[in-house]
Amino acid sequence: MSYILFGGTFDPIHFGHINIAKFALEKLSADKVIFIPSKNPRWKDPISSADRLNMINIALSGEKDFIISHFELDSTEPVNYSIDTIEHFVKLYPNEKLYFLIGFDQVDNLDRWHEIDKISKLVQIVAISRPSYPYNHELLKRYNVQVIQGKEYDVSSTDIRTLKSLYTPRGVIDYIVDHKLYFTKSVEAYMSSSRFLHSVSTAKLAYDIASSNGLDPTIAYIAGLIHDIAKERSDLKEIMEKHYPQYINMPSFIYHQFAGEYIARTFFKIDDERILEAIRVHTTGDRAMGKYAKILYAADKIEPTRNFDSKSLIEAMKSNLTSGFREVLKAQIEYYKSKNIDYSNNMQMRCFTYYLKEER
Ligand code: ATP
Repeated sequence: MSYILFGGTFDPIHFGHINIAKFALEKLSADKVIFIPSKNPRWKDPISSADRLNMINIALSGEKDFIISHFELDSTEPVNYSIDTIEHFVKLYPNEKLYFLIGFDQVDNLDRWHEIDKISKLVQIVAISRPSYPYNHELLKRYNVQVIQGKEYDVSSTDIRTLKSLYTPRGVIDYIVDHKLYFTKSVEAYMSSSRFLHSVSTAKLAYDIASSNGLDPTIAYIAGLIHDIAKERSDLKEIMEKHYPQYINMPSFIYHQFAGEYIARTFFKIDDERILEAIRVHTTGDRAMGKYAKILYAADKIEPTRNFDSKSLIEAMKSNLTSGFREVLKAQIEYYKSKNIDYSNNMQMRCFTYYLKEER
């Protein structure tokens, strides 16, 4: 048997971790990867070990080649040094080949590791390429590091904590939101609890629709979660006057879609144009909308906590985005008519005309 030891803060675990572990397993023809979450990493200040461990368990459930070690979490030492962990596994598996997997960002730090010379003799250190981290040849050689290269994953735990990315299993996303971790607190601060529930429900439905249409569900989830961040603000008019003067004559119930885009860009630092567009047109729609904009528009209107039976529209969106979207638009017009809501503004009319007038 051969084992790959894979230590990390996993705050939280993401697909970068999972995919490189799978890749290393295959490339090294090893038998198991042992995930070793750290308790007190020297250069970080993570959330509780219990939450990080719960998310690792969720993410790795069903992965038969992955083992989760509690060795560092259970240790009573004030600081966990890799050498102690490695010596523990050398004792446990004295006759097996042991690898120690790190991402390329760690190569620069190797010199700072406690007893690094000893580590490099006890295990084979393996470094895997990571976007924006160049090779450091000198240290690779000094510590006999084996390099494996393959597809790179541009994601970090920091990205997940700040909502820049949600490239992690759906169970982990749900755990984060249910337990109000990381970005959830700042999103919640922008809205009442009922609006937060609607936003989470929209995000989940948007995720499912994107997923069944072969799109990136995490983009849809982020858009859904923050689409209403501006809705309860008292300074909507000021934001419109300053940043969207061309739309100032639109009905005021529409302002929050523009202001929402502004807050997403400036406060949440979202730079993915697909997410920004989706938020910017989520109430009105528009002509020639992107796929994620269609998904958010629909999910916002038909998510299951809304007060009507939307099951058939949900199914229509899941089975085909193009035809499902048209169904949602038709239902929306019926709704506006039944409530005597005026929908004659430019953007809404442009959307209905573009998507419903001719069968495209
Ligand atoms: P943070 O953003 O908080 O610094 P992180 O994403 O680097 O976290 P860690 O748990 O600190 O995650 O990483 C554990 C190990 O996984 C490290 O060796 C790190 O280099 C490696 N790693 C994490 N993400 C990637 C990735 N996308 N590609 C390659 N290696 C990665």
